[in-house]
Order: sequence, then structure tokens, then C-alpha cells
Amino acid sequence: MPTTTIPVRTPSASYLVHIGTGLLPNIGAELTTLAGKHRPFVITSPEIHRLHGASLLSGLPTDTPVLTVPAGEQHKRLATLETLAEQLAHHGADRDSVLIALGGGVLGDMTGFLAAMYMRGIRYIGVPTTALAQIDSSLGGKTGVNLAAGKNLIGAFHHPLAVYADTATLSTLPPNELHAGLQEAVKAGIIRDRALFDYMDEHSAAILAGDQAALTHVIAASVRVKADVVSQDEKESGLRMLLNLGHTLGHAIESATHYSQLLHGEAIAWGMIAAIHIAEARNTITAADATRMDRVIRAYGPLKPFTADAAELVALTAKDKKNRSGTRSFILPTGIGTSTVVHDVTEAISLKVFA
Ligand code: NAD
Repeated sequence: MPTTTIPVRTPSASYLVHIGTGLLPNIGAELTTLAGKHRPFVITSPEIHRLHGASLLSGLPTDTPVLTVPAGEQHKRLATLETLAEQLAHHGADRDSVLIALGGGVLGDMTGFLAAMYMRGIRYIGVPTTALAQIDSSLGGKTGVNLAAGKNLIGAFHHPLAVYADTATLSTLPPNELHAGLQEAVKAGIIRDRALFDYMDEHSAAILAGDQAALTHVIAASVRVKADVVSQDEKESGLRMLLNLGHTLGHAIESATHYSQLLHGEAIAWGMIAAIHIAEARNTITAADATRMDRVIRAYGPLKPFTADAAELVALTAKDKKNRSGTRSFILPTGIGTSTVVHDVTEAISLKVFA
């Protein structure tokens, strides 16, 4: 199957995102052209190393160090990066070294931030292995780790040298992780690409069954949306905020449920449903479009129920990182494939929709 290649061009970096099946063994050979003089280091978790490490390593020098960190959001902390940095130093990593992030969004965000800090900045490439990471988190340059006070509160903008999204790796992903990650593709369709949304509506059975051609199509279209947005607004001063559709309430749900009841994509799905019904209540989208968007989001479910108080959720949306000067920011669809940022969603509408 042919590989799709999408350029990301921002004021601070230009690179390619490659999407296709069976890319892992060829990355090593491409690195030589891409990075010139370099020494690779693979950063991954033991589980992903067991599943996909051999395929990646088959194309890399036999003495490539593999540094592992345990899987899970709870390990996305500065302490983990200090341990990894000590290991890099122990293995003699220097300014020519290139980190290879093999894993999901957690691994990618951590490796990118480690690369931003180690020796004040070295290169890294992304080899995302979850749907969420292939569709969204591996490109755009946002890297970071969590604090006890909140998610992603420390980090840096540091773009990868290239991204290789091998859709074959998704075949080992648990179904709930695949479905949750695909919600970010539904999001991309709703905010900016009606053709992607229509495709996801019409081909949901093939996509959810892991059909490689269908997945490649969806991931490539989603990456195109993100690359286009990030190219125009790298540091999120305006347009890039649209990528946060569903995230105002989604983050509130994750926080109210202590990150224990839902996957990120599942919380975002509930957030998108709320945004759609807020837009419908404000008469900025038709009831027919609202019903169709709601149905497609649920097709990539099931949407797990969660327990949280509506008033607490409304209060938490007031604390969202996207808010500026004390007003709540919401991304709302204005149709299928178009969206806008608003700052005047009232507590009354939020309470009605969240209840
Ligand atoms: P994750 O990285 O925790 O991966 C989910 C689970 O799947 C983990 O247990 C992981 O070990 C496992 N896994 C990964 N690949 C696998 C495979 N191929 N087969 C089997 N199991 C596999 O979660 P995620 O959803 O990929 O990423 C979530 C993170 O991404 C969050 O920390 C979020 O903040 C971040 N994020 C970052 C951005 C950004 O722009 N930087 C955007 C969105 C989300």
C-alpha cells in the first residue's frame, strides 16, 4: 500500500509526516538521509518494545540503546525525564543524537520534551503507535509532562525531525484505545473537513475493524487538518484553538473524575457532544446537523457513562487553560466542517447541556 506524506511547515520547523503500513523497518535507513551524522536512541515502554521494537530495531544499528519507561499517564512526569536524561548521559548521548519516540501520546510528549531539554535541545523523531498519537499528538510541536496541579503544565514547543505513523502498529491496540483515538479524527472532520467527516460516517465499519486502507485515509486526512492549522498558527494565538473542540468540557470531565473513568478521547467525545448541543441551543447549527454529528461520534463509541456533578463541571470549565482574561472559551461547530471560538457561553446553557 502506498505511503502518504504530508508536510508540516511552521515558522520554526518544517518536516514530513509519513503514514502507511509496514514503515517501521525502513526508518533506520531514512534517518541517515534525514539526520546526517547521528546516533539513534529508542525511547519506548516495555510493552510496546515487546510488540513493535524488533521491527523498528531491524533497520537500526545493532548497538542502538533502547531506554524504557513504564506505560501510563502517571509516569508522564519530570522525574521520569530526569531518569531518562541520566541514562542518555550514561550512554554518551551528545548533540548529534536523535531520540526515537516509539509509543503513544504519553511517550511522544515525554520524548519530545526530553529532546527539547537534553543539552538544550537535540533532535527526535516520532513513531506513534496509538490512533490518538498518529492522528494528533505526534505533530505540532507541543511536548511536555504533567504536574500534580494539572496536565501538561510544563513543556516546550519542539518539533520532531519527522513522523512515521505505521498503521500496522494499530492492530495490537486495544479496541477502546482505537475508538477513543478515532474521536480526534471525528473532531478534525467537524472543525475543518466535511469530506473526512462524511468518510468516517460512511466507512465506520471498515475503520473500526482496523482496515489498513481506511485507517490510512482517516489518519492522513486528520494529519492534513492539523498540519494546515499548525502551519498557520504554530503557538495557538487563534486558529489552533479550533483543535480544542470538545476539550473545554473534556478536560473538566477528566479532572472531575480524577482521570480514572474515561480515556482522553472518550472524555473529548462527551465534550464534543456538549459543544454540538450548545451550538444547537444558540441556533448556530441546524438540528439535522447536530443529530448527524452526535450519531457519528457515538458510532466511534461506545460512550462510557461517567459520574460527575454538572455544577462542578461548569466550574471546572472556568479554569481551562484556553481561557483568556477570565472569559470561558468554547469551540463550537458552525456546521459540519466549520467551527469558531466563542467566549460568551452562559453558565445557564452549560448547566442545561451538561446535566
Ligand atoms: P498512551 O500513550 O497512554 O497510550 C495508551 C495505551 O496504549 C498505553 O497503555 C500504551 O502502552 C498502549 N499502547 C500504545 N501503543 C500500543 C500498541 N500499538 N499496541 C498496544 N498497546 C499500545 O495514550 P495516548 O492516547 O496515545 O496519548 C495520550 C497522551 O497524549 C496524553 O498524555 C495527552 O496529554 C497527550 N496529547 C498530546 C497532544 C499534543 O499535541 N502533544 C495532543 C493530544 C494528546
